Amino acid sequence: MTVLVGIDFALDGKQSGHLAIPHSSHLSAYGKIVVPVVYIRNGDGPRALVSAGVHGDEFEGQIAARKLCIDLSPDQMRGSLLVVPMANAPAALSSSRISPIDQLNLNRSFPGNPLGSPTAVIANAIENELLANCDYAFDIHSGGSSLFYTDIGITTATGSVTEDEKRLNLLKSLGLDAGMLLPAVGSMGFESSADGAMLRKNVIGVSAEFGGGGHLSSNVTRRCEESIRGFLAHTGLMPEPAEAPGKPCRFYDVSDPGAQVYSDCSGIFMADVAIGELCGQGDPIGRIFDFYDVMAPPKVIRNKIPGRVLAIRSLPRVEVGDCLAQVGKLVRV
Ligand SMILES: [Zn+2]
Repeated sequence: MTVLVGIDFALDGKQSGHLAIPHSSHLSAYGKIVVPVVYIRNGDGPRALVSAGVHGDEFEGQIAARKLCIDLSPDQMRGSLLVVPMANAPAALSSSRISPIDQLNLNRSFPGNPLGSPTAVIANAIENELLANCDYAFDIHSGGSSLFYTDIGITTATGSVTEDEKRLNLLKSLGLDAGMLLPAVGSMGFESSADGAMLRKNVIGVSAEFGGGGHLSSNVTRRCEESIRGFLAHTGLMPEPAEAPGKPCRFYDVSDPGAQVYSDCSGIFMADVAIGELCGQGDPIGRIFDFYDVMAPPKVIRNKIPGRVLAIRSLPRVEVGDCLAQVGKLVRV
């Protein structure tokens, strides 16, 4: 079952189409969910996908991808580019990480199911109708509602030195000073993520985190746009920018279970560190104040492994099991 409509991969020019996801509801018996897709082509050449909004509450990439749809004309490039600015459209429309329709997280739903619930159908279409027609992909994320994230590129360790080098070079093209190389096996939800889908489709892929904290600014969106520009130049779709990014990229490892610092009580979390700061083992990450025992001193939450704070919780209210911080260990420059 094909759900991509309005786009002919063989045609040059700029086309606007969508994924038509069947959704029969009380108010719309024969309704469909529309996930906008823009296709820009200028002859044969590299084929790439830029996606955002896999998590609906991450708007930085959604805006950067929309600007790409508006600004890029076929004569500025060679090859073809698919742009999906709000991959999980129902989630984006409700400013939510997950879909309000089936409560599913698109980045834990790949490879999806053409006969499944809406999020599973979207995942299946992205993997088998979009990524299957691409050589390169860039999936843009942010900390969303609950986290602030440092700008960081993420790619997959495949086990092949040659393949890993291609992905590392693609990550470096984003021009960010931080990166993560996640193992394809054993990483948090990898197989069911968009990164897992890229690997299955033999696409040289990268994802990245920018900002978050339930906030959207032109400053962060501009950094997304610069990374997209670096990505497109690296794939050969567009010429190299006049000023190529020259920042060294430091790679961090978060595979140690202690890299994620969790809350073991409920209350009000006040961070004592900011993203980008170095944090030693045992250093305070923040404090949690009890809601009702107002005389109780706050519980100090301590860091488990020495490293750099890559993400910190932005929502003060916490429950047991909420992730408060992610701390990466420097592994290579
Ligand atoms: Zn995300």
